[in-house]
Amino acid sequence: MSNRFPGQACVFCPNPNVGVGEHVWPSWFIGKFHGQGPFTTSRADVPYTKRDKETPVTADALLGVHVPACKDCNATLDTTIEKSAKPVVRRLLKHGDSSDELILSADECVALARWQLKVGLLSAHAAADHDHPGLQRDQDLPRLPVVRPEWLEWMRTGGEPPAGFSVFVTRRHLRGEDAPPAVKQHIVLPQLIVDGEDLNFMSQSFGFSGVNATIVWHPGWPIAHAQVDTGRAVRLWPNPYEINFGVLPQVHSRELTFWDGAIVGVGAADELTQLAQHPLSVDSDSSVAVFGVALPSEE
Ligand SMILES: [Zn+2]
Repeated sequence: MSNRFPGQACVFCPNPNVGVGEHVWPSWFIGKFHGQGPFTTSRADVPYTKRDKETPVTADALLGVHVPACKDCNATLDTTIEKSAKPVVRRLLKHGDSSDELILSADECVALARWQLKVGLLSAHAAADHDHPGLQRDQDLPRLPVVRPEWLEWMRTGGEPPAGFSVFVTRRHLRGEDAPPAVKQHIVLPQLIVDGEDLNFMSQSFGFSGVNATIVWHPGWPIAHAQVDTGRAVRLWPNPYEINFGVLPQVHSRELTFWDGAIVGVGAADELTQLAQHPLSVDSDSSVAVFGVALPSEE
């Protein structure tokens, strides 16, 4: 097998990459769509095109993304993440657009959350290599500027993901999306610096077959999620509970999004505890909480 990442280390440990590394979307998942192409890939509803800028890039198979990984870590992730997620993801794919009951136990929600954290973190990893030439070329493709060791460590040890993560899911239409929602809400994530240390608050969203997943890193500052409160989304992690996925409504992925907010510096951890008494929500702006003024934020 040729080496896709010559000279690069595994993203999980110091060992060198072996072969094609880790499939971010596992081959069992990509194989599920075999023969259903051609596939096009879009970002913000605009399909990626060939160099003529008109012809959409199509592929006969769902295209993958890889990160450098050694043989041991590759095998470990299969045990700690893929094995338990596979039956749950398969049930979601099979369920499709149906509004029939689809009960996921708390354990199944955790398996799904772990898998979504893996896909979300690795596909935005600086070392990620996309099969899709348009994606790989795209300078605006979300790439994580920093990957904290604790974001990946649990995948290798088989432990629990850190409680600083939240994982949310909504359902979305299988084929395309409706017109953008009339009201778009957003939750602003401050770029929080506590005692000189950047906590690297961030969010990543991605979709697959009727599901939209959002992972958020927000240690020490809870989120009150408007869609969860109204039964339009579920939180899979932390504090998982049994859900009926089938009764969730299909919602547009831009109905509620997370935005990067202003840099907020606080002196010490107890100041954060003070601020965190007011959860991050669509109604709050962290810069108002800290400075008493709204600072400009960007999407
Ligand atoms: Zn490794």
